[in-house]
Amino acid sequence: MTGGVKINEIMASGERKPAVFLDRDGVLTEEKSYIDSVEKLCIFPYAAECIRKIQEKGYYAIVVTNQSGVARGLFSEDELRRMNAYLIRETKIDAVYYCPHHPAGAVEKYKMECDCRKPKTGMFQAACRDFAINLAKSYMVGDRAGDILAGQNLGIRTVLLESGYGTGRLEADVVPGHIFTDLRDLLEIL
Ligand SMILES: [Mg+2]
Ligand SMILES: [Zn+2]
Repeated sequence: MTGGVKINEIMASGERKPAVFLDRDGVLTEEKSYIDSVEKLCIFPYAAECIRKIQEKGYYAIVVTNQSGVARGLFSEDELRRMNAYLIRETKIDAVYYCPHHPAGAVEKYKMECDCRKPKTGMFQAACRDFAINLAKSYMVGDRAGDILAGQNLGIRTVLLESGYGTGRLEADVVPGHIFTDLRDLLEIL
């Protein structure tokens, strides 16, 4: 049965697609410290079109976001899920992975040293279980040092955007693969 061989070859060559992993605040939405309700989530006017183009170029568009406001008791995980649903509806991103934890949190349930808070890579690993992702061709796009370090910890290419915290406010010395003004510039390298 040569057909079986062909199928195996296709599977080996991979139906895997690369991903653009995206931070949320400062990348897809305006950075405003803690956004504690869906009403405060201001999606950049260009975000939906950028996501469409990223997907047209053959990439998954997957959000990986630290939301320690849940651990700090500033908003509930349910409210965060409402924000995620709104973001998916408005931008058509493929998925949102979030970390609600913080080691110094006020809410016992979320107070922990977890494996998902960037610069750790737990959210990316969860995405890789849910999607067939070609990491070798993937990118991490963010506006803070932790985003870049997370991408580097995972071993993927990194892009720092100036549309959030700005490169003058980086919490650590990082050397991203690219520095761009905002998400629209990313499309030039995909
Ligand atoms: Mg951010
Ligand atoms: Zn976490």
